[in-house]
Amino acid sequence: ISMLKINNLHAKVEDKNILKGLSLEVKPGEVHAIMGPNGSGKSTLGYVLSGREGYEATDGTATLNDKDLFDMEADERAKSGLFLAFQYPVEIPGVSNMEFLKASVDAVREYQQKEPLDAVAFMKLAREKCQEVNLDQAFLKRGVNEGFSGGEKKRNEIMQMMLLEPEVCILDETDSGLDIDALQVVADGVNACRDPKRSFIIVTHYQRLLDYIVPDYVHVLSDGKIVKSGGKELALELEEKGYGWIDQL
Ligand code: ADP
Ligand code: MG
Ligand code: MG
Repeated sequence: ISMLKINNLHAKVEDKNILKGLSLEVKPGEVHAIMGPNGSGKSTLGYVLSGREGYEATDGTATLNDKDLFDMEADERAKSGLFLAFQYPVEIPGVSNMEFLKASVDAVREYQQKEPLDAVAFMKLAREKCQEVNLDQAFLKRGVNEGFSGGEKKRNEIMQMMLLEPEVCILDETDSGLDIDALQVVADGVNACRDPKRSFIIVTHYQRLLDYIVPDYVHVLSDGKIVKSGGKELALELEEKGYGWIDQL
C-alpha cells in the first residue's frame, strides 16, 4: 500500500509549466530524498501537494491514503496528515509560537476526533519537544519565527512536526543555511520521528544532510520530472559528478 501516490503530475505557476509528468510512490516508513538543480521544481512539488495558492495541478493525480489530495482544501490536507516544512518559514509577529503550535495541534486532533489537550498538558509536551530539538523554551513565548535565526526556524519547524505527528512529512531544503550543529539537530529530530507508519520526502540540493538522514530512495528531479532513481549511493554519485551529467540521461 502507498501512503502518497503521485502519478504523471503536471503543475503550473503563473502560466508557466513547472512539473511535467512527475510520478512517485511513497510507502509507510520510507524516506525518499529528492535532489536536483535549482529551478527544477522541487519546491513547486511541495507547494502543489500542500495546496499553496498559485500552484495549480493541471494533469495527473496525487492521493494520500487513497484520498484525492486535489479534492481537499490546504488545511484538510494538513489535517489528514501531510506536513510541509518550508524552505523559507514565515514570520507571524504578534502571534506567540505557543498559541500557534497549540492551535495547529488542536485543529489536527479535532479533525481526527481525538480529545483536545488541555493547556497544561500541551505546555508540558511543547517543553519536552523544545528540549529534544535543543531550542530554549523562551522561543515558545516569542512571535512565530519572529527574529529567529535560520537554524532556530528550522529547529522550530522540526518541533512543530514532532507535535503534529503527521503521516507524510515533506522537508524542503531544511538544511539550507544550517551549520553542522544545527544540521545534526534537524537530522536527529527527523530520525527520532521515523516510524513504520510515517514517511518522509527530504528535498535537498546537497548530499550533506543525507549523511545524517539515510534515505531508502534517492530521486533526481530535472525540468519537472524524475529522471533517475536509486538508493542512497545515488546521492554520493551526484555529489561527486554534479548535476551536469543528468542532462545526458
Ligand atoms: P527548486 O525548488 O527546484 O529550486 P522551484 O520549484 O522553486 O525549483 O522553481 C521551479 C521553477 O518555477 C523556477 O523556474 C522558478 O522560477 C519557477 N517559479 C516557482 N515559483 C514561482 C512563482 N511564484 N512565480 C513564477 N515562477 C515561479
Ligand atoms: Mg531553489
Ligand atoms: Mg526550492
